[in-house]
Amino acid sequence: MSIDFRPTEEQVMLRNVARSFATQVLQPLARELDALTDPWECFQRSKPAFTQMAAGELTASLIPTEYGGAGSSCVDLAIAAEELCRVEVGVPTTLLANGLALHPIITFGTPVQKERFLRLFAEDKTGDLLACFAFTDVEGGANFDSDDPNAGVRTFARLEGDTYVINGVKHFATNGSGWERKGVLGTTRTDLSRGAKDALSIIAVPGDTSGIRVGKIENKIGLRLTVQPEVIFEDVRVPHENLIGAEGDGIPIITGAFGWTAALIGAACVGVMRAAFEYVLDFARSARWLGSEAIINHQIVGYTLADIKMRIEACRYLT
Ligand SMILES: Cc1cc2nc3c(=O)[nH]c(=O)nc-3n(C[C@H](O)[C@H](O)[C@H](O)COP(=O)(O)OP(=O)(O)OC[C@H]3O[C@@H](n4cnc5c(N)ncnc54)[C@H](O)[C@@H]3O)c2cc1C
Repeated sequence: MSIDFRPTEEQVMLRNVARSFATQVLQPLARELDALTDPWECFQRSKPAFTQMAAGELTASLIPTEYGGAGSSCVDLAIAAEELCRVEVGVPTTLLANGLALHPIITFGTPVQKERFLRLFAEDKTGDLLACFAFTDVEGGANFDSDDPNAGVRTFARLEGDTYVINGVKHFATNGSGWERKGVLGTTRTDLSRGAKDALSIIAVPGDTSGIRVGKIENKIGLRLTVQPEVIFEDVRVPHENLIGAEGDGIPIITGAFGWTAALIGAACVGVMRAAFEYVLDFARSARWLGSEAIINHQIVGYTLADIKMRIEACRYLT
């Protein structure tokens, strides 16, 4: 059976809308904000662009229609991600992190949790709400699924009656500060004596719950219009009903959510590769270093560029 790679009429429209938003809104903003030295100021000043995305229902596009969203397919989102990230990656990352944090609720949430959290985000046309999936601990990241109870996520949720009491420190938590230094969905270990398979659990924690503190804001060399703060949990109390799925469902929830974003990050990377290619192509067409010929007319340059272009196209379809 052959696969039809041609976009539908709606997808072509979506691509055009994303392309013009990227060039008209994100491009000038990126030029201005990339030059700022304070990462927090950089993030804060990207908010008007994010608000425009929310008003244009991009946040809602991630959410199923039955909870007020647009229920866009992963292919639709990948088309938009490529166009946006061709110009600027930070603001789309803020949006993607919303999706990363809502994905566990979409896939493992109860109807009550979905109604409570998803509808809130679907109806937010201001962009004020940010969701964060804070899973990476200061002491454990890539090894989150380890069977060793002493490795991986150390943030611990202790059950007292029907309340979880959470303590630990997360970092690199995209959106973890919210716009106002509050955000969060946390990955915790619910039993310190058992490995991830039994004890890794996801708990929804509203950002204004007392005991949450935002620590250091990562000062990155790139991706400056998105924020990756440290998030500190000190005796944060949330009801048992905020548990997403069951205790020990952490591994499938995390791999599902990151599997979903991985495809979109793939599309985002195609966008970045396209931007780099367009820059180099332009240069090769105008630079005349080896005489009167534009360097693109030298076989080695032309062939190299054709090779790169072929790989970028392949990456798009493999995404
Ligand atoms: C821009 C950005 C945004 C991010 N957003 C989020 C977010 O929203 N939420 C969130 O929770 N996290 C986020 N992260 C963090 C990211 O998910 C982690 O960096 C990632 O999970 C890896 O964890 P780590 O940095 O602790 O690396 P480490 O766990 O220190 O791993 C580093 C390297 O060592 C290898 N390694 C680790 N343990 C072992 C082992 N036992 N054996 C062999 N090799 C090993 C790993 O494979 C990896 O190559 C973000 C990171 C970035 C850069």
